[in-house]
Amino acid sequence: RLAPDGEKETSAAGGAPGPDGGAPGPDGDQDVLRSLDFHAATDPAAVAAAAEDFGGIVQARPAAVIRPSTTDDVASAIRLAAHSPRLTVAARGNGHSVNGQAMAAGGLVLDMRYLSAPMELVRAAEGGGLAVDVPGGALWEEVLEWGVRRHGMAPASWTDYLGLTVGGTLSNGGISGEAFRHGPQISNVTELEVVTGDGKRVVCSAGSSSDLFFAVLGGLGQFGVITRARIPLHPAPHLVKWIRVVYNRFEDYSRDAEWLVTRPEPDGCDYVEGFAFVNSADPVNGWPLVPLSPASPFDPALIPAGSGPVLYCLELALHFNHDERGAIEQRADEIVRRLRYIRGLEFAVEATYVDFLSRVKRVEEAARANGSWAAPHPWLNLLVASSDIIDFDRNVFKRILKHGIGGPMLVYPLLRRKWDRRTSVALPDSEIFYLVALLRFSRAYPEGPAAADQVAQNREVVECCRSNGYDFKLYLPHYQSEADWADHFGRQWPRFVDRKARYDPLAILAPGQKLFSRSR
Ligand code: FAD
Repeated sequence: RLAPDGEKETSAAGGAPGPDGGAPGPDGDQDVLRSLDFHAATDPAAVAAAAEDFGGIVQARPAAVIRPSTTDDVASAIRLAAHSPRLTVAARGNGHSVNGQAMAAGGLVLDMRYLSAPMELVRAAEGGGLAVDVPGGALWEEVLEWGVRRHGMAPASWTDYLGLTVGGTLSNGGISGEAFRHGPQISNVTELEVVTGDGKRVVCSAGSSSDLFFAVLGGLGQFGVITRARIPLHPAPHLVKWIRVVYNRFEDYSRDAEWLVTRPEPDGCDYVEGFAFVNSADPVNGWPLVPLSPASPFDPALIPAGSGPVLYCLELALHFNHDERGAIEQRADEIVRRLRYIRGLEFAVEATYVDFLSRVKRVEEAARANGSWAAPHPWLNLLVASSDIIDFDRNVFKRILKHGIGGPMLVYPLLRRKWDRRTSVALPDSEIFYLVALLRFSRAYPEGPAAADQVAQNREVVECCRSNGYDFKLYLPHYQSEADWADHFGRQWPRFVDRKARYDPLAILAPGQKLFSRSR
């Protein structure tokens, strides 16, 4: 076991207020910090890294970063914090939040990437299929690599980008193009090991300690730290037929997208997503976003005269094995033939399953090379009811965002029935709702826009949804006041508060969400 990196540095880290007012703890907290006898890092580099996230907008310095290698380490850190006057504890997955959600000003950050248990193949339930037991800090790309390469098996539901942790996405939802069929990642987990805010280790599932199980799923880290998750596995397909088609009318786009996600399983696609883009040659916001290979460029001459400032690209994928190519080509033709896209603006490639799932890794490499990965990312994610999406398109895509956002503007439908109402996540009321994700990838100011202007534009979008009375929720929500959080959760708020009192009565966990304040 490691000793802390030195009391001198402990007091340096704990003694300086963070930029957001992360004040040093009172003496009681310092006593606790001095007693940390396991994997704690208080060196400036570790503290500085935990004071930032992918968003690059919020900074909050913790007093120390804990590197837990076991569930017991996690429990010890939480119990120590509980015995202090006011220390808080934030699990940090890969720090890919955009509003400081994994930070703990003046508290302890648990770097979950250090949890070192190996992944293990298990039976999902008696008589059930196979599953993998994964440490909470594992990245989804590690789960993919382990499952496909070692066992030819994979989870059913992914995120677009796989450099996210299992515990981080299960605390939110975990959405991608498979979710319309299999549900989000929180619908694809059968058991969790959790350390609650009072330091208890609990193994929970839909059949055992079920209230805690569902509380933690989509629970924004409020009820416990996920140290292990059991994820069902399915035979991984070898290949993917990946198709994009372009629309100029949002009504056609959304009608086709909803038709696709409501197809009965054997006739449908395995993945449905889509995005809005600017009707121009702009390399970051326009036509160049669409082609899947340089061999099939975008021909703007095919866009009908009189089309508006924004176009839409529906993205589908069909899974298949090497010996199924003929059948899959036929199924793809049957599906695509029925869609009302602009003829000639269709794009298709074949990819291995792993390459398809790793597609955003290639975006990351390009963004790192051009400097936009390290720049601020004022992202906005919304879930908007299908009944409001056409109006949303008219007011938001065609008006507020008609010049683009410096990256993709995802918009694709999901089905309410694939989400379990017992989880903590808040959703619009309608059976079909859309994920809208404004994934801004601009260079830092002054080469790109000022982050404050992008934040203001996000606010304008949210205000537009409010003033028009849309049925919508923030995904990866971010609010500052209890009233806003109560409004976000709506009818579920009393249950959320009740669960907090039961599983984290001192409000130690995930202070960066700004939901509850630590009590003594
Ligand atoms: P962090 O940001 O580190 O943590 C998020 C929250 O969860 C914090 O409150 C933290 O305290 C808590 N937490 C972390 N680990 C645990 C744990 N083990 N137990 C309990 N609480 C924990 N989301 C999607 O749904 N679909 C996507 O396709 C998608 N693509 C993305 C692409 C990029 C490039 C980025 C940056 C984000 C994307 N996201 C997507 C958002 C992502 O789901 C969130 O950022 C999420 O928070 C996971 O990131 P993380 O693992 O780094 O968690």
